[in-house]
Amino acid sequence: MPNATAFPPFWEGFSIVAIDAEAETLQVELKPAPLQVPRCGDCRQPCAAVHEYCIRHIRDLPMLGRPVRLRVHLRRLACGSCGRRAEWVSWLARHARLTRRLEEAVALWCARLPTQHVAELFGLHWGTVRRLEQHRLQAQLDALPRPQPRRLVMDEFALYKGHRYASVVLDAETRRVLWIGEGRSREAIRPFFKELGPAGCARIEAVAMDMNTAFDLEVRQHCPNARVVYDLFHVVAKYGREVIDRVRVDEANRLRHDKPARRVIKQARWLLLRNPENLRQPEQQIHLQELLSANQSLMTVYLMKAQLKALWTAASAWQWRTAWRQWLRHAQESQIPALMLFAKRLSSYWRGILSRVRWPMHTGQLEGINNRIKVIKRMAYGYRDSSFFFMKIKAAFPGNP
Ligand SMILES: [Zn+2]
Repeated sequence: MPNATAFPPFWEGFSIVAIDAEAETLQVELKPAPLQVPRCGDCRQPCAAVHEYCIRHIRDLPMLGRPVRLRVHLRRLACGSCGRRAEWVSWLARHARLTRRLEEAVALWCARLPTQHVAELFGLHWGTVRRLEQHRLQAQLDALPRPQPRRLVMDEFALYKGHRYASVVLDAETRRVLWIGEGRSREAIRPFFKELGPAGCARIEAVAMDMNTAFDLEVRQHCPNARVVYDLFHVVAKYGREVIDRVRVDEANRLRHDKPARRVIKQARWLLLRNPENLRQPEQQIHLQELLSANQSLMTVYLMKAQLKALWTAASAWQWRTAWRQWLRHAQESQIPALMLFAKRLSSYWRGILSRVRWPMHTGQLEGINNRIKVIKRMAYGYRDSSFFFMKIKAAFPGNP
């Protein structure tokens, strides 16, 4: 039978000598338990030679809703091998002002809540929480193996409000974020290739990216064996914006005297841009069917979207070429200006689309990563330094080899 009145062993090797529960903060004074020989903080060998005592104030997990502050009598030892060293304490890292369990709890919550919330939750200073998280992230990143990527994905995203951008490079096979930096120019991404080195650059076989970026010229300059592949996610997103949205708005304007029909089309944006397999409810599918059958142009651009996506899954170059020519012809014959213009612009990028047949890369990879970055960014108010934000992104995508 455990002794019901014994205090749980929160502080191994120490005894409580006083508790002050008067103030808002619970004060607990701890002294080394008698008859326990301390161990050297460096070599962990028992050492009975106590050089001096010193007092350290340490924060612990809140107890019963109240912050806890420990007043700990620590020993400095005269270790035979190491010299003067602080004693080893199982629940406290060297020089730490917080117990290990508090550090772990803070780290756990930092992955879910903004820094400021975590600071309030544990009654800690904002800067303390930030420093802890930075250490934890750096340790995680340092523990990763040296990457040897063969296929890359490059992308850009808006950094903050205003027009600042960041570029991100990831390993297409492991999904690890290899590099991230401010800007989206050729100069901005050059450090990545410098870090990779000539041998690493020569190993790169293919790089997936959006059309219309500065990345492709930089890739060609550094990676002699790399093919540029245009990513399906970006092309389809562009198609949604420039063709489907355009036709939908034009149709809504054309029907401005037919209020109910106009409203149906105006509200259909989500239905049209969604993947059909994501429309789970039967009434959404019926709604989509009705919408398309009532409107020829919408039907055309909707079907052309599916055929556009199919270009990324062609089984052979020959099959791809047939499908590509057919798609361009259908676009030209559609008499829909937005679609014709899109096809005209897309046609000059055919090499990067065909490359996809030879260098299949997981599409939707970037979509998932973009969404995660948005979530991290939303939690990131108060990240004044982008280096911390970049660390968080890197740590969120360590890759799965
Ligand atoms: Zn020692």
